[in-house]
Amino acid sequence: MMYDLIIIGAGPAGITAAVYAARKKMNFLVIAKDVGGQTALSGDIENYTGYQFITGPDLTMKFEEHMKKYGINWKENEEVVKVTGVSGVISVKTAGDTYEAKTAIIASGARWRELGIPGEKEFKNKGLTYCATCDGPLFAGRDVAVIGGGNSGLEATLQLMKIAKSVRLIEASPRLTGDRIMQDKIRIAENVTVLENTKVTAVLGEKLVSGIKINTNGKEQTLPLQGVFVEIGLMPISEFAEGIDRNEYKEIKINSRNETNIPGIFAAGDVTDVPEKQIIIAAGEGSKATLSAFRYLARQKS
Ligand SMILES: Cc1cc2nc3c(=O)[nH]c(=O)nc-3n(C[C@H](O)[C@H](O)[C@H](O)COP(=O)(O)OP(=O)(O)OC[C@H]3O[C@@H](n4cnc5c(N)ncnc54)[C@H](O)[C@@H]3O)c2cc1C
Repeated sequence: MMYDLIIIGAGPAGITAAVYAARKKMNFLVIAKDVGGQTALSGDIENYTGYQFITGPDLTMKFEEHMKKYGINWKENEEVVKVTGVSGVISVKTAGDTYEAKTAIIASGARWRELGIPGEKEFKNKGLTYCATCDGPLFAGRDVAVIGGGNSGLEATLQLMKIAKSVRLIEASPRLTGDRIMQDKIRIAENVTVLENTKVTAVLGEKLVSGIKINTNGKEQTLPLQGVFVEIGLMPISEFAEGIDRNEYKEIKINSRNETNIPGIFAAGDVTDVPEKQIIIAAGEGSKATLSAFRYLARQKS
């Protein structure tokens, strides 16, 4: 079957794109590895208009209910491995199938960035993790380190300081870079130590993490601890899109209409070069992408 539109991803961008496509009565398909994306992993959300406070899982449930209201069917647990656009036909390949459409929206978001230091791979899920919301409770009463002083690291620290015995928040640059409102809460917490100008050089342990090596202004030391949370940002998931223009950060380049360099392929949300990665921004971009795809199809017909 030739779809009008295939949406890749079901985070805020993909879900909003799908709601708009349903309202335009487009013949479309949503393919996603999971529903909610990073939002499902978020802790407390206080900046999505209309909700003064909502948790990530609750907002994901609301998103899912919104899709169900429009009878949207989606293929979950399916990973897109290749997207090509040739002569007006967009081909979307997953492990088991190939789908075709006149347009596609890539809304595949982002994944955790890795440190690339000795011990990181060996101790992944053995004390080292990339998601405080997912794994924080496993470290109740333990000594842990959060690596990264941007918003992800600060948010992880805020969660962990309520669970862990102690938290070392480690930032390579001279100052924490995340929002001041979070920094202020962290600086007064009794069980948090902030280490700026500090690089983590190795993760240590035998079967499980038992410590980390750090270097502060050239001075090396070992910190004994049981948990390491790597929170140094995200990498866009864009590698499956063949021939698509990306910037130096591997973000898909789009214009103000969410068009990529390939006719018929649009992109939205964290996978794109739109500055600022936020739920409300991703959702807004998702709606714009569908409206642009809709107009593109109308132009093809006329
Ligand atoms: C811990 C944490 C806390 C955050 N807190 C906030 C906050 O308080 N407020 C805020 O505004 N923002 C917050 N953010 C950022 C926000 O969650 C993201 O900006 C937003 O989710 C991006 O939406 P997206 O739809 O572009 O991508 P994502 O949410 O990353 O969704 C991507 C979707 O694509 C799917 N996918 C990926 N690759 C493939 C593939 N190959 N094939 C098929 N499907 C694929 C995924 O399964 C998922 O469904 C937080 C992020 C994190 C990680």
